[in-house]
Amino acid sequence: MTIDTIFARIVRGDVPADIVYRDDLVTAFRDIRPLAPTHILIVPNEAIPTLADVSAGHEPVLGRMLRVAADLAAREGIAQGGYRVMINCRDHGGQEVYHLHLHLLGGRPLGRMLGR
Ligand code: AMP
Repeated sequence: MTIDTIFARIVRGDVPADIVYRDDLVTAFRDIRPLAPTHILIVPNEAIPTLADVSAGHEPVLGRMLRVAADLAAREGIAQGGYRVMINCRDHGGQEVYHLHLHLLGGRPLGRMLGR
């Protein structure tokens, strides 16, 4: 059983969000607490709790998430300068919402990935 998260409610339309893209597999919306000028979350419409829970059957949706990230980066005008895509997984990864999501971040130099 998957937990009904805030992102599942956004996908269903029960909770408002600034949705920038939607198709049969994924939904993308702006992060409510953006960490960069562009900060978009891309989520599977069918909830998967974490990246650690994916299986071979999820390959189409995982591929779609990355392709949509690249398309949205182009649409946001950040593809030329560059951007970052990020997935936090479980406790040590800093995951807060247990509905798999990809962060698309850009619009300013983001620096190195992690501090030492
Ligand atoms: P993570 O730490 O990878 O689980 O990231 C969760 C992200 O979801 C954070 O960047 C939050 O700001 C964002 N977030 C939480 N609630 C909402 C919401 N209702 N609408 C948009 N973004 C949200």
